[in-house]
Amino acid sequence: MHTIHAVTGPIGVDALGTTLMHEHLMVGYPGWQAEAATDRALRREHVARCVERMQELRGHGLRTLVDPCPIDLGRDVELMAEVAQASGVQIVCATGLYKEDEGAGAYFKFRQHWGDALGEMTDLFVRELTDGIDETGIRAGVIKVATGHGRITPYEETVLRAAGRAHRATGAPITTHTDQGTMGPAQLDVLASEGVDPQRVVVGHSCGSSDVHYHLEMLDRGAMLGFDRFGLEILHPDRERLAVLIGLLGIGFERQLVLSHDTVWCWRGRPPKLPADLLPHWKPTYVFETIVPHLRAAGVSDEKIHTMLVENPRRYFAGEVIAARAAS
Ligand SMILES: [Zn+2]
Repeated sequence: MHTIHAVTGPIGVDALGTTLMHEHLMVGYPGWQAEAATDRALRREHVARCVERMQELRGHGLRTLVDPCPIDLGRDVELMAEVAQASGVQIVCATGLYKEDEGAGAYFKFRQHWGDALGEMTDLFVRELTDGIDETGIRAGVIKVATGHGRITPYEETVLRAAGRAHRATGAPITTHTDQGTMGPAQLDVLASEGVDPQRVVVGHSCGSSDVHYHLEMLDRGAMLGFDRFGLEILHPDRERLAVLIGLLGIGFERQLVLSHDTVWCWRGRPPKLPADLLPHWKPTYVFETIVPHLRAAGVSDEKIHTMLVENPRRYFAGEVIAARAAS
């Protein structure tokens, strides 16, 4: 049986169970270190909040959560391990780097002048997937890449290429960030030029576009699409995400769609004050409490819902190729 690496150690892909493919225990924008003392003071509170959320999710049958926080976005794999241990929910963490405008690209852009940034990034990703992250012994199970709105910068292309090479070296799947439903097909182009089969890629935040043509272009190439920002209505309305999702399910693409929320549970540095009424549905139980009932009401079968929440994560991590494509 195929084995993947969770933050608490290896697990068989058949033990993944119901999986949320894109949530964050902790995020910190580069520069959060300026208020590192605040971050340290909140540590116990962060652990407690994450464990509480995980216990609530276990009540909905969740067995595994993928936290694709890249290296430079405040990733804290020891927090993840502590929360996984205390809650019993398996967590898969990522290697990889964030988009240029909100990541920490300065380091590798500096390296580019004096060395081989692509080779160094590739080595870093491979090391985190095989040996472990820093001194923790915790191994990443997935590779994260990201692009900004409407274009892929040269730096982001380097990250994509390094991810493709690390995937080829290790077999670990790739998950992406896209901005406002743009650049998904272009991400697949760069990855494909490095020999990556689109079936091993989740194009994240694809629900940020309501252009079905955009989705079909990627689905026809075999990619998995993330409808993974449910509840994040300041970026895109949930009813449009739902309308597109129901349509794609209706024409048989259930084997290429995964559901999540992209929630952030704790912030490194000083936590932002978000007005409570701004994002009333942005919580990691929303898919189970609200979206699944909406899908059922629209006639989507329990089997298709199971496929998206259980089967697709398993096949994605196992690297199983889909035999049949949807009818066109
Ligand atoms: Zn995210």
